[in-house]
Amino acid sequence: MNRLSVLHFPDPRLRQPARPVEHFGTPALRERIEAMIHLMRKQHGIGLAATQVGLPLQLAVIELKDGPLTIINPHLDVLAAETDDDEEGCLSVPRVYGTVPRAKRLRLRAVDVSGTPFEVNAAGLFARVIQHEYDHLQGALFLDRCTQITSGLEEARRLNLHISPLS
Ligand code: ZN
Repeated sequence: MNRLSVLHFPDPRLRQPARPVEHFGTPALRERIEAMIHLMRKQHGIGLAATQVGLPLQLAVIELKDGPLTIINPHLDVLAAETDDDEEGCLSVPRVYGTVPRAKRLRLRAVDVSGTPFEVNAAGLFARVIQHEYDHLQGALFLDRCTQITSGLEEARRLNLHISPLS
């Protein structure tokens, strides 16, 4: 478990929907979360889903300015019909960045490492990262929603991505 690494597109494991976590508060779960936070920081990411490290579990970690947030078995309720366009990248698709429309505001319902339910209202970048990680847990990637490539066009071509460049 200590040697986690990030899977890169087009690894088919990134397309595998994750199953719910069923056992909470175990040393194994805590260790996995610690290892994922460590890896996310090492790679300068702001979010990492378990599917990105080959664990098909409904589990993701996010870290913006405040400390790390662990999300387990998440559900999203979109609170605003409006979407925002902004640039996204992904540790599983190195060097490729693109514009992705995302709901501006949402409510996240999830459980923590002990299995205790919690809710968070999120907006802006926080809401965006939650949606990005939630997608990973369904086997979806930002590439599926990306409307144009903003950076890394050559790499996108090499990967055979059919997304228009920024014009
Ligand atoms: Zn990602």
